Amino acid sequence: MAVKAEYLWIDGTQPTAKLRSKTKILANGEQPPLWGFDGSSTNQAPGDKSDCVLRPVFTCPDPIRGGDNIIVLCEVELIDGTPHPTNTRAACRTSAEKYADQESIFGIEQEYTFFQDGRPLGFPAGGGYPAPQGGYYCGVGADEVFGREIVEKHMDACLDAGLHLSGINAEVMPGQWEFQIGPVGAPQVADELWVARWLLYRIAEDYGISATLDPKPVKGDWNGAGAHTNFSTNAMRDNYDAIIAAAEALGKKRQEHVDGYGAGIEQRLTGLHETAPWTEYSYGVSDRGASVRIPWQVEKDGKGYIEDRRPNANVDPYVVTRLLIDTCCEALAQ
Ligand code: ADP
Ligand code: MN
Ligand code: MN
Ligand code: MN
Ligand code: MN
Repeated sequence: MAVKAEYLWIDGTQPTAKLRSKTKILANGEQPPLWGFDGSSTNQAPGDKSDCVLRPVFTCPDPIRGGDNIIVLCEVELIDGTPHPTNTRAACRTSAEKYADQESIFGIEQEYTFFQDGRPLGFPAGGGYPAPQGGYYCGVGADEVFGREIVEKHMDACLDAGLHLSGINAEVMPGQWEFQIGPVGAPQVADELWVARWLLYRIAEDYGISATLDPKPVKGDWNGAGAHTNFSTNAMRDNYDAIIAAAEALGKKRQEHVDGYGAGIEQRLTGLHETAPWTEYSYGVSDRGASVRIPWQVEKDGKGYIEDRRPNANVDPYVVTRLLIDTCCEALAQ
């Protein structure tokens, strides 16, 4: 029996890269080989030197097609075998290897918003606005919840694919949802998040609905969409001094982190809607208005993890995990 292998890769769209995929038929038992694509159609190459290479790096069962079919996430390479300039996974993998002895793990909370006919799902089709925010977060009922059927299908698909999905919830704005991947190490947590994003888009497609990672899908008094990134090392899981050292280290690299946390971050990190302003760095216990939150349980236990609340929904998870490793593991190694 032939196997359908859906090859996924991350393109060169600016300022936010997007997923592409195409199908390769494999003979039964055949390992997914290197493959290629037309980089001139993905902002990754000029037309006269258009060949880019797909190197399989993460494979899982394909829950959409079922059977023996698979999803194959790839790194993009140049034809000489070096990482393509748009390949952010290569640097993530290098940092993770450099500090492997610190055993970093991550849980990423991916928020997103469903859109139909150019409007967020649950917004009146003819224009205008629904009731103000308040009842939608973790809500129930047809007046509060929009898109649950897709969310349930997506959750099942992630579990069937073997991803480390740890939960889902309805968010503060109508049509806005969250799923969490982790805790696992890098780059695997990011590989799984990219696959989970693809599954979300693919499942919603069948309903004529698109899911967007736009960090501020509706201007005004409506919550933006983030990707809170929860992070720990073995030292942080052991003692509170390491928790504080990591939180302090992030303050010394504020701009570098904000620059890598997703396009349009100034629109979301305003200081309103459970955010801290992007121009300032702060951390605090239980504080959802801080850049970095230390969960109350972590203070009580004297160990655990920290939550960087700044990354946008549209962040590249290879970049946020690399930055957290570089900044915090370097500080903790001293
Ligand atoms: P909240 O919505 O309260 O901010 P969530 O429950 O949505 O929190 O997400 C918490 C995340 O923290 C989960 O993805 C979980 O996997 C992750 N997490 C839990 N413990 C650790 C840890 N020690 N290191 C890193 N991440 C962790
Ligand atoms: Mn959450
Ligand atoms: Mn959330
Ligand atoms: Mn939120
Ligand atoms: Mn959170």
